Amino acid sequence: MRTDPNIEEFASSNSPIVRKFSDYLDARGMRKTAERYAIFNRIQSINGHFTIEELQHMLDEDGFRVSRSTIYNTIELLMEAKMLRRHVFEGMQAQYERISLPHTHLICTTCGKVKEVRDTNFAAFMNARRFNAFNADHYCLYVYGTCSTCARKSKRAREPQGNKRRQ
Ligand SMILES: [Zn+2]
Ligand SMILES: [Zn+2]
Repeated sequence: MRTDPNIEEFASSNSPIVRKFSDYLDARGMRKTAERYAIFNRIQSINGHFTIEELQHMLDEDGFRVSRSTIYNTIELLMEAKMLRRHVFEGMQAQYERISLPHTHLICTTCGKVKEVRDTNFAAFMNARRFNAFNADHYCLYVYGTCSTCARKSKRAREPQGNKRRQ
């Protein structure tokens, strides 16, 4: 892997998110390697979900040759640090996303497409919600159903042939 002055700059930056990661590595006695910061840096620029494969592809495109196991270990680390979360949707590869604003996932059980929506009413409800003998950090909501594309397809499939010809 090449050494990139931008990564050094990034690693020494004073942004709260970088400091959180650096502090976490320090607390665990782990080395602050350029690889870890390059992976972390790339993840910060992704909005939404990504798979390990997609992340590796993005790093490749940036010119960083990082092994799959280094990516995997850094992701595990970020999950322990509560900076990243994993989703395993049925029948799909694990997807990751940064823990930022809470949002709701709408999952189509036909095509597997996942849509994210922000629901301020639900967020307000969850913020006010107190649990007995449990201190909530963050939450994640999955709503399963059928997306409009799949609903249209299945409606078309059900329509008799005669109707189709008339259109
Ligand atoms: Zn669908
Ligand atoms: Zn999400």
